[in-house]
Amino acid sequence: MRQSEIVAALRQVLPREGVLWRDEDLRPYECDGLTAFRQKPMIVALPRTEEEARQVLVICRRLEVPVVARGAGTGLSGGATPHESGVLLSLARLNRILEIDPVARVARLQPGVRNLQVSEAAAAHGLYYAPDPSSQIACSIGGNVAENSGGVHCLKYGLTVHNVLGVRGFTIDGDLIELGGPGPDHPGLDLLALVIGSEGLLLVVTEVTVKLIPRPQLARVVMASFSDVRQAGDAVAAIIAAGIIPAGLEMMDRKATAAVEPFVKAGYDLAAEAILLAEADGTPEEVAEQIAEIESVLQKAGATAMVVSSSEAERLRFWSGRKNAFPAAGRVSPDYYCMDGTIPRKNLGPMLQAIQGMEERYALRCMNVFHAGDGNLHPLILFDANRPGEWDRADRFGAEILELCVRLGGTITGEHGVGIEKINSMCVQFSDSERAAFFAVKAAFDPPGLLNPGKAIPTLARCAEYGKMHVHAGVLPHADLPRF
Ligand SMILES: Cc1cc2nc3c(=O)[nH]c(=O)nc-3n(C[C@H](O)[C@H](O)[C@H](O)COP(=O)(O)OP(=O)(O)OC[C@H]3O[C@@H](n4cnc5c(N)ncnc54)[C@H](O)[C@@H]3O)c2cc1C
Repeated sequence: MRQSEIVAALRQVLPREGVLWRDEDLRPYECDGLTAFRQKPMIVALPRTEEEARQVLVICRRLEVPVVARGAGTGLSGGATPHESGVLLSLARLNRILEIDPVARVARLQPGVRNLQVSEAAAAHGLYYAPDPSSQIACSIGGNVAENSGGVHCLKYGLTVHNVLGVRGFTIDGDLIELGGPGPDHPGLDLLALVIGSEGLLLVVTEVTVKLIPRPQLARVVMASFSDVRQAGDAVAAIIAAGIIPAGLEMMDRKATAAVEPFVKAGYDLAAEAILLAEADGTPEEVAEQIAEIESVLQKAGATAMVVSSSEAERLRFWSGRKNAFPAAGRVSPDYYCMDGTIPRKNLGPMLQAIQGMEERYALRCMNVFHAGDGNLHPLILFDANRPGEWDRADRFGAEILELCVRLGGTITGEHGVGIEKINSMCVQFSDSERAAFFAVKAAFDPPGLLNPGKAIPTLARCAEYGKMHVHAGVLPHADLPRF
């Protein structure tokens, strides 16, 4: 009865095909990229315009129905996992590029526009949108904003939060919120960074204004081989310590290159225990100078071999191996669990060694792929969900990695968000009062708590159950580090 009542209400504002409620229509929406968690929504709403999206929110507020926004569903932390008695609000049909202004170097986008589509459209003006998640062929700008997504080139050009100038969206009450904009300054509180990365908990984003930057004249990438993963980790720290900010600085261990190479034929050194990819971009003179500096640091750091891309095709081939690392994991294992944590770069070496120990303890293999320059780890834990106990072991393996990230002075997510996947690990990272502050922000935007409930912020009871209240007597680990 509840379903019929909500379907009838939604049909007053959406066309028939914009409201899905039959089992076979709901199935495709039961999970995002975190396929281990599945839940069918009660209803899927597919608005075509901003006004229709607003009306869906107003109806859900009136009928007290939870709402989960969904972009392309590529998220890896279960942020878009539906609520069993809620509406899944797909923004996929709001997929128009509203404006590209090559003079102001900005683009105005609906949330369903794919990340890569922005750079493709801006290319005619010699411009592009810098944040480039490996999922950029599919993921949406709305999802990027909600997750504060990163990518290979974010080390030099910044994450989503550094490249989004304005966001327009609606609260659960259907009230318009406009933050930032194309101009250099704006009246009112600067809440843009609060909303970017808020995982669909505060508002539904219906328009995004992004910064476009000129395409560099040239880019070249150094591929360096190392006979020891720890040494490769230390080499990353050495590059940054030398004052070099490469356009991209990524690392893959031997298990990752072995999985990727037959698939992509990137030309990786399969004998190396780890490879580093370090890119320089700019004018030909700047690139030549930086490549020489990078080579010199890597040589001193113990690189056993180095190859510099000699053409644009070769550069793209080197990167395509890295960008296809996650799908390649699916070729060597029935299932994989992609973790996402961040640590200070100087700790990359010790972290890799610790993960090797965990592989033995949990009797599971782990491929390592990193946005190394950012200290952002993506260990891919390989398991077979059909073998009893393997998912549980993978889950505990992942949680231990995240706890170690916190102990090493890092965070439990670099770019994939908390969602439902890391909600317990939030109890390790944040104290009671910090989590209370998060709830207060949530309540200010969404008093009835209907937007993406149960995600990202754990309740006190949940943390107590998890038994991971590491902040005792007010003594916070690494209290010197800035916190949200
Ligand atoms: C192979 C692969 C590689 C990946 N590589 C990267 C990477 O390099 N870097 C990276 O950062 N991520 C990466 N990801 C993760 C994922 O692609 C990003 O998190 C992406 O931003 C999600 O976008 P989406 O449109 O798919 O969002 P969804 O998965 O649909 O949703 C993600 C979250 O955003 C919320 N949301 C979506 N749209 C809106 C909206 N309009 N308003 C409010 N909330 C909204 C949802 O409720 C959910 O909480 C990868 C994923 C895959 C599968």
